[in-house]
Amino acid sequence: MPTATHVRAATSASGWQRELADAIRDPAELRDLLGLAATEIPAAARAFPLLVPRGFVDRMRRGDLRDPLLMQVLPLAQEDASAPGWSSDPLREADALAGPGLVRKYRGRALLLLTGGCAINCRYCFRREFPYAESGATRRGVAAGLDAIADDEAITEVILSGGDPLLVDDGFLADVLGRLERIPHVRRLRIHTRLPVVLPSRVTPDLAAVLGDSRLARVVVIHANHPAELDATVAAAVRTLASTPATILNQTVLLAGVNDSAATLAALSERLVELGVVPYYLHLLDRIRGAAHFDVEEQRAVELHRRLRESLPGYAVPRLVREVPGEPAKVWIA
Ligand SMILES: *Cc1c(COP(=O)(O)O)cnc(C)c1O
Ligand code: SF4
Repeated sequence: MPTATHVRAATSASGWQRELADAIRDPAELRDLLGLAATEIPAAARAFPLLVPRGFVDRMRRGDLRDPLLMQVLPLAQEDASAPGWSSDPLREADALAGPGLVRKYRGRALLLLTGGCAINCRYCFRREFPYAESGATRRGVAAGLDAIADDEAITEVILSGGDPLLVDDGFLADVLGRLERIPHVRRLRIHTRLPVVLPSRVTPDLAAVLGDSRLARVVVIHANHPAELDATVAAAVRTLASTPATILNQTVLLAGVNDSAATLAALSERLVELGVVPYYLHLLDRIRGAAHFDVEEQRAVELHRRLRESLPGYAVPRLVREVPGEPAKVWIA
């Protein structure tokens, strides 16, 4: 018979999976929940549909189409407008696929794609058209990616990516970590995930136990764009993550209408610091087709960043960067 502890663990482990299954996929339902009038659904939403967990919707203002959290997830007619220079693979990641499940584009670091799935569909996502099925973001692809990492001594850091790598279950994650531990040249593990922000219930004590037990140096990079995303549920998830030896960083994408003001960016940094998260990157938007309406001109971005530097302590100022295809690292803009 299972003990009470076992029962509790099993319940909490499936809690986030139930929440994910219950996420909103119907724009009409989202509209009704927020008391909004109908908006036109773009054709682009057929291939990349609405997906947003209810807990994230709870942090939106009702009756406001310009709410900065809503704007990140609501498919809008502008997505169908074509814009020259905005393409389906702006970072030319297809060129960097080094075999199934593995992306090699940074020196010493390899990206292992654990899954193509996400808990939320961000309209500005540079991988919104990424061919996950063909790129090996499957269990068999991951196994092949692990073999390729074992064969290449130049790889000292493995970045679990996706999709969202924390969407896989704890057992699979523990298997992958175990395999990485046994590859002597791998010294660091990095996880890029938006789940602590958009589905904080994913960060269970069981997950912390999986992440906590490793010889690898560990870094978790979360992804928040606006201070309103960082409510008490996120604070609790970050506290659980912080119970492991992992360093916790945040990356933000600079998005017109969402966070392109010095006051919003400063509030985001201050909130992150309060939670114990280091603001790491402020990304200029990648030129993915359908997201041109989120663009902030580089000159304005530099000006916003200058104002951040003037108003915040140095450790709270993220690096302003752009990803340039073919470059071995991010380009620092300021
Ligand atoms: C930039 C980037 C990396 C590598 O990050 P560094 O911190 O510059 O090493 C990995 N994954 C994604 C998706 C990135 O955009
Ligand atoms: S969570 Fe990250 S990978 Fe997933 S849709 Fe959003 S930006 Fe893209």
